[in-house]
Amino acid sequence: MWFISLGGFKGKMKRDTEVIGKIKWHQMFKPNTEEWLLKRINPKCENCNNNDYYIIDTTFYKPLGVLPLGKIDKIIRIICPKCKEVIELDREEFVSIRPFIKINNLFESGKIDEYQYKYRLEKIEEKYH
Ligand SMILES: [Zn+2]
Repeated sequence: MWFISLGGFKGKMKRDTEVIGKIKWHQMFKPNTEEWLLKRINPKCENCNNNDYYIIDTTFYKPLGVLPLGKIDKIIRIICPKCKEVIELDREEFVSIRPFIKINNLFESGKIDEYQYKYRLEKIEEKYH
């Protein structure tokens, strides 16, 4: 079985990390409220209180060689860029911040302009009311 053999595979795999994107601290509140978007995660880093944004990344095992297994045991993490505090996110938490990460990426890479950014941001925020 796949799950049983996974333990054996891990010895031959290395853990890799990929940055997914960023979320700004003010996007970590529900729109126009003081309520945190993610109940567990303070919009301002609880360790240093000094972050303008968080970095979201993922770590996973990538099989070496030609096994067509893709990414295994993916973990999504939110990281403070100032003090490097790391918190693991569960799937549901990641899904709620994913739209913000996506438009932040589009804006930073120049794929949308500021007008489109604000428009899309409003559309996302409407969903959280
Ligand atoms: Zn911090």
